[in-house]
Amino acid sequence: MNQWTTPSGLDRSAARRVPEQLRAAWSQAVVIEVDGAGNLAADAGAPRRLAAPGDLRDEDILLGWYQGRPWLARRVTAVEGPTIGWRDLDPTMADPLAAAVALARWHATSPTCEACGTRTVPDLLGARRSCPECGALAFPRIDPCVIVAITDPADRILLARQGQWAARRVSVVAGFVEAGESAEQACHREAAEEVGVRLTGVSYVASQPWPMPRSLMLGFEARAEDGRIDVDGDEIAEGAYYTRADLAAAVGSGALTLPGQASIARHLIERWLSAG
Ligand SMILES: [Zn+2]
Repeated sequence: MNQWTTPSGLDRSAARRVPEQLRAAWSQAVVIEVDGAGNLAADAGAPRRLAAPGDLRDEDILLGWYQGRPWLARRVTAVEGPTIGWRDLDPTMADPLAAAVALARWHATSPTCEACGTRTVPDLLGARRSCPECGALAFPRIDPCVIVAITDPADRILLARQGQWAARRVSVVAGFVEAGESAEQACHREAAEEVGVRLTGVSYVASQPWPMPRSLMLGFEARAEDGRIDVDGDEIAEGAYYTRADLAAAVGSGALTLPGQASIARHLIERWLSAG
């Protein structure tokens, strides 16, 4: 999680998007195949790098320069052989791979011009799309989502299970920011809607890209007015407050499963655990 709070290792600067510069460095290029659903071609559990990527193609997406090389995502209809999903990616390569998944999905799902409906074409080596009919430009869309670790006045943490999740899997409250709403307002609304909790204070912690398909997770922590919970029974199936000792015991016995290590949800929970 920590890599998201320091400068990205991926150099996205516009100067790096000159086609001639890319062609000059082509023999060093790392090309990753991605299908329209955002799955990456895999080799032995890691993203597969094309050994002989051939020529630069019109649909190839330059992600940026990473560790001295240009990294590209090559969009394919279907990946041949095994694939790897975003959740299983190597965190040490998260910077270029998050961009690969997010950009490949955006190009696959947003092919037409919002102004006139014409099919757009990739531009600036995939950094945007342009309309050949009216000239409108389209940029990758990102959906902000809040995720908030709520504690009650006794400093217990609220963990809840979504109805569609496996039994025992719990996390902190999360939801999309709605149109015309601030991130903090979204925290207040989601807490009220999903678990019936009124928050007395909301403070920002950190963010993380979550290209499933195009979210930016904005992590917050917040204090609840009291220790009461009223789950909505729809999106949230169950929820409860836990002390640090209760949570450790529940996880240790297998009664609860926490979010994956790479997620900001886990980071928020660990942050609370280590503050006790
Ligand atoms: Zn157009």
